[in-house]
Amino acid sequence: MENIRYLPGVTTLRLDPEACVGCGACAEVCPHSVFRVEDRKARVVDRDACMECGACALNCPTDALAVDPGVGCAAYIIASWFKTKDGGCRACC
Ligand code: SF4
Ligand code: SF4
Repeated sequence: MENIRYLPGVTTLRLDPEACVGCGACAEVCPHSVFRVEDRKARVVDRDACMECGACALNCPTDALAVDPGVGCAAYIIASWFKTKDGGCRACC
């Protein structure tokens, strides 16, 4: 999914390089290859590919990553899956 793009310059993804211990979990779980880990530090190599799913922050053991999941187009797309034809919602919540 490396070629899927988000809106440029709007992702809320934040990386604190000082807190990163280079475990590689973020690079492993990110579905859009946003990170690369080199010399035991994660780097954001494709920021605009982030769809704010939150997987990286959820799996980071040192809270070096933060993202506000669900504020971008990913949330819109997911919400649209649950919309009925008359504008109602099929989501359980
Ligand atoms: S998951 Fe967190 S600690 Fe691990 S490489 Fe990524 S940013 Fe660094
Ligand atoms: S929020 Fe999701 S898409 Fe964005 S960098 Fe983290 S894992 Fe990748």
